[in-house]
Amino acid sequence: LAKADGRARYALFDEQRNAQQLLRYGLTGRLAGALERGEFELVYQPLVALDGNRLRGAEALLRWRHPDLGTVSPNTFIPVAEQSGMILPLGRWVLRESCLAAAAWQRSHPGTPLLVSVNVSPRQCTDPRLLDDVRHALADSGLDPANLQLELTETVLMQSTGRPVQTLRTIADLGVRIVIDDFGIGYSNLAYLRHLPVHGLKLAGAFMAGIRKLESDHVDEQIVETVIRLAHMLQMTVTAEGIETADQAARLAALGCDLGQGWLFGRPVRPAEIPLTPSPA
Ligand code: C2E
Ligand code: MG
Ligand code: MG
Ligand code: MG
Repeated sequence: LAKADGRARYALFDEQRNAQQLLRYGLTGRLAGALERGEFELVYQPLVALDGNRLRGAEALLRWRHPDLGTVSPNTFIPVAEQSGMILPLGRWVLRESCLAAAAWQRSHPGTPLLVSVNVSPRQCTDPRLLDDVRHALADSGLDPANLQLELTETVLMQSTGRPVQTLRTIADLGVRIVIDDFGIGYSNLAYLRHLPVHGLKLAGAFMAGIRKLESDHVDEQIVETVIRLAHMLQMTVTAEGIETADQAARLAALGCDLGQGWLFGRPVRPAEIPLTPSPA
């Protein structure tokens, strides 16, 4: 019985793998030309200072609106685009669009410096053209480099040999901010980050479940508190993502977390719907 059970499980595993390959194959074909057909869109989610809840910027999040499939999640299509290499032209488009949107906010609300935070995939980081892509996006939009932030995953920095780090250093020298996305779920090594051009950390949303039950689980609170304290010691800012409740925001503010992002403050929206308000004097 156990054997039959095992075989059935393997068959199921094969079936799932086949389905996944089929899906990937289908998506690769559908992704080709999607950029030219205008099927991509960027939505922006507010980044808020936890001390006073003021808007500080927004993260650009990619959406693929396929005529038949509907809206496909970036968690589904980004890995496919990475594999096919399409992430390079797509990432270039994201950078350019985000900078244009941020420059437009800046023109309509001068005096309210807002960051636009752009996700950069591992494949883009090893592409020697990334530096030029950033330069062009800034030059074509007229955006102040200080208002651009790039989000990288920690594996890029931990596993890469010299070249990508050198490119990032040059990008940082332009005045662009660099942060580590989803911090805490991979090979987090704060001591190592000290030697890299990194200005901040985004605490992985996975930590927020722990924050919710802080009263009963002090270990979670202590981990988050320690990360925040170490990050500050290294002159890095900390953003918590996935904040859904006012309790979480209050706890994180008490722990010294700088910025927050999540449904509590706002869902990702089209550029015109960003709740831009002039900052109180
Ligand atoms: P991420 O960069 O960590 O983005 C945060 C994700 O959490 C977003 O999912 C966002 O919609 C979601 N989120 C925001 N607030 C909450 C909340 O309060 N609760 C919960 N449960 N979720 C929240 P999304 O938009 O589906 O993006 C998924 C991932 O896809 C992103 O994770 C990022 O890694 C990747 N991605 C998105 N846009 C781009 C892009 O332009 N380029 C690249 N390379 N990757 C992208
Ligand atoms: Mg991100
Ligand atoms: Mg993240
Ligand atoms: Mg992520």
